[in-house]
Amino acid sequence: MSLSSKLNELEELTSNAKQIQDNLLEEILKVNANTEYLRRFLHGSSDKELFQKKVPVVSYEDVRPYIERVANGEPSDVISGEPITNFLISSGTTGGKQKIFPVNDRYFENFAFIYALRSSIVSKHIDGVKEGGKSITFLNMGLLSATPFGLPIASAVTNFLMSDSFKKWSSKRYASPDEVMFCADSKQSMYCHLLCALVRREEVVSVSVPFASALVQAIKFLETHWKELCNNIRSGHVSEWITDLGCRESVSAILGGSNQELADLIEHECSQKSWEGIITRLWPNVKSIQCIVTGQMSQYIPTLEFYSNKLPLISLSYSSSETFFGVNVNPLCKPQDVSYTFLPNLSYFEFQPVDSRNNDEILDLVNVKLGCFYEVLVTNRFGLYRYRMGDILQVTGFYNAAPQFRFVSRKNIVLSIQMEATTEEDVVMALNHARLVLESSGLVLMGFTCYSNVSSVPGHYVLYWELKTKTPNGIVKLDNKVMVECCRVVEESFNVIYKKFRSKSDSIGALEIRVVQQGTFDSLMEYFVSNGASPSQYKTPLSVNSPEVLAILEEKCVARFFSDKIPPILVDEGNNDGSQDAANRRKSN
Ligand code: AMP
Repeated sequence: MSLSSKLNELEELTSNAKQIQDNLLEEILKVNANTEYLRRFLHGSSDKELFQKKVPVVSYEDVRPYIERVANGEPSDVISGEPITNFLISSGTTGGKQKIFPVNDRYFENFAFIYALRSSIVSKHIDGVKEGGKSITFLNMGLLSATPFGLPIASAVTNFLMSDSFKKWSSKRYASPDEVMFCADSKQSMYCHLLCALVRREEVVSVSVPFASALVQAIKFLETHWKELCNNIRSGHVSEWITDLGCRESVSAILGGSNQELADLIEHECSQKSWEGIITRLWPNVKSIQCIVTGQMSQYIPTLEFYSNKLPLISLSYSSSETFFGVNVNPLCKPQDVSYTFLPNLSYFEFQPVDSRNNDEILDLVNVKLGCFYEVLVTNRFGLYRYRMGDILQVTGFYNAAPQFRFVSRKNIVLSIQMEATTEEDVVMALNHARLVLESSGLVLMGFTCYSNVSSVPGHYVLYWELKTKTPNGIVKLDNKVMVECCRVVEESFNVIYKKFRSKSDSIGALEIRVVQQGTFDSLMEYFVSNGASPSQYKTPLSVNSPEVLAILEEKCVARFFSDKIPPILVDEGNNDGSQDAANRRKSN
């Protein structure tokens, strides 16, 4: 499809947002009216008003039993009028349990549609991109498992890579061959992605990864592997540990033979003391970095600006395992100013005002008000009806008749390094467990706050603790064994997504407890009060990130302790490492 036809489609969709949303809801209700779920509320009707009156707004726990029944082999029509063919694992959890979302091919068609639209938007805004230029990506097959009846359960990206929509989407646009993306071993895949990107450095015009954290991780990987990569380029042979046959053969072909000159050049750039601008130095024709830097990813903006010599950092779309939402039609705006234009053909969207006293006040897509904050509710084609996303958005404008939203935050999230979301509830529960260890050694936790430290790679969680003895006026003696045990206990009580990232040593580093002097949290309160907080209503923030506040805490830090063990993932937390499964499935396709 040509550039202009995709952009024309954008105009049409956004100009007719109301009509398209109404038609979509009508279609969803007709197709799904006889599902067990909707029959409970609508008794077979597909009337919009009845839908708005009778179908409740729900959270994951409300629909989990229905989704799990389908995953366990009951017919799709428990929730969906159309067959469910795949389950997407999201980065969210509730009650520590992972969420899975039912979908079918239409989800992957939307995936390809959004990718094509994004690509047209980028071409429209970025000049001088060489015809046939390649994009570096670090996509690869993640973990894959299956329901008892053989339906794949995996992340959205992994499922997309396995879909027909991906086959139609030209993978020739990437610097790496398909085999590297299909590789289930993330280390081999990352190494091969980088090797291909370096060999094709002149052809590379963009870097494109889903989230900023993945790019920071890739640069870290490059830091530890560039010498070996140079050796491969110099010798013309791929390292022996690249044993995945698909990777080995396809990357060897790209490598071609020995290239002394290129190896010297890369070695020269990578051995500089500073890695400032390393992306543009290694890939001189790169015009943009396409990765999400909004929401929890905004913490990576300074790091990426440093590595990229301030190339445009483009956040192109907003999506989730539940649905795609929209695209950024103004990709060259500052990362802080990004808004996403919602597209009305993706799902039926409703909006609940944040802090509204009237819980029943729910607005349609086209009726949201400029400047207001909302939680978005999704009704999709795959069995979610008026589903609370937990994402808070603010209306920043309209593109034709379609509203544009700034991503404000994920509800309730306190700590995050990758895509995991550690909530207030998770943190409080973890503290309660650690408190038991502390108390058994005669100490009491007097003050607490935390932050996600991404100043080094991999990032890690830092908890600031103020301690005192159980006995009055006692002297706090810090026992290394007890403190390390506390770090461990905290990590062990975090949710499974944290643990999965943590189990990969380059994704999240060991959790750290920094013990601060007594009185530190009083100083913190004084700081907030001097900045206008009301003393009578002051609550220590559960998490902090302002440099001033961190400086107060750092100044009073007296000791540091790190977790010494990767927290185990318990069987009932859904640890199913099906990576081999994924490879087998790919081969048999
Ligand atoms: P997942 O279902 O694991 O793909 O996670 C989806 C969640 O990631 C969304 O609900 C958002 O909280 C977050 N997310 C996705 N896209 C963006 C974006 N462009 N900006 C900020 N957060 C995003």
